[in-house]
Amino acid sequence: QPQQPGKEYVMCPLPQAINPDYKPSAKLNGKVALVTGGDSGIGRSVCYHFALEGATVAFTYVQGIEDRDKDDTLKMLLKAKSSDAGDPIAIATDVSSEEDCKKVVDQVASKFGRIDILVNNAGVQHYTNLVEEITEAWLVRLFRTNIFGYFFMTKHSLKHMKEGSCIINTASVTAYVGSPHQLLDYLSTKGSIVSFTRGLALRLVDKGIRVNGVAPGPVWTPLQPASQPAYEVEYLGSDVPMRRAGQPYEIAPSYVFLASNQCSSYMTGQVLHPNGGTIVNG
Ligand code: NAD
Repeated sequence: QPQQPGKEYVMCPLPQAINPDYKPSAKLNGKVALVTGGDSGIGRSVCYHFALEGATVAFTYVQGIEDRDKDDTLKMLLKAKSSDAGDPIAIATDVSSEEDCKKVVDQVASKFGRIDILVNNAGVQHYTNLVEEITEAWLVRLFRTNIFGYFFMTKHSLKHMKEGSCIINTASVTAYVGSPHQLLDYLSTKGSIVSFTRGLALRLVDKGIRVNGVAPGPVWTPLQPASQPAYEVEYLGSDVPMRRAGQPYEIAPSYVFLASNQCSSYMTGQVLHPNGGTIVNG
């Protein structure tokens, strides 16, 4: 987002990965999880919660994106992991490339033997509400990362997933209620992910693989530009009933719930809505 002269700029609050009061209870003991976009924001917090809950965690990251930190995430996961879980691994991956997706999946499966939980989470945002301004280049980038990536990762992971495994897709509240924040092209990708989640869930019922989604409201992460006009930063939570944006740790427990067969064995094709109270239809 280009800075505009004469406007006051403020920094987004630092994304918080964990609520100090969170009490893990071994909900994912013995599970192997693969999380895309695990070096930052929501995905990083999901990885942390999964490790605390006993899972072995592999995550993907993109090399050289400012603000994201895979080394710091790896250190955090090593500290959190339980003694019988494998060491966390981070793999550089561009999810918009099918070849990269196949490589990362095969690498995780050959190291840990299988994939029990796939979290499709890596995503990019782009600001425009004006359909006249949308370029082919941006549409291609958005759709390849936010949609194709979910298809590719799922396609290749399924070979390594058995009955009792699950897939969790990150959607967005904008898929349901639109957005005044210039996100027309972005929210179209997220609507597609809601449909993908429902369709795939039905397709995989007979295999005993559950597929669900999480549709967060606005969350303080590097996805929100680190500096932007102050009015937009305030605006981020202004149409949320709780009048604030969320923190990653307020989103990640929904993934724990959906990943845990103790908690959600009778749920598939559903989307959870940690969004500060926005009422969604459908
Ligand atoms: P983030 O920018 O902190 O994290 C995005 C992650 O995606 C990063 O780890 C990045 O490395 C990865 N990524 C980006 N392009 C990639 C590519 N081509 N290949 C592989 N990985 C790639 O943002 P976040 O807010 O944590 O976003 C995570 C997910 O949550 C996204 O799907 C986003 O659309 C969704 N979401 C975010 C918000 C929000 O307000 N932050 C709200 C609803 C949904």
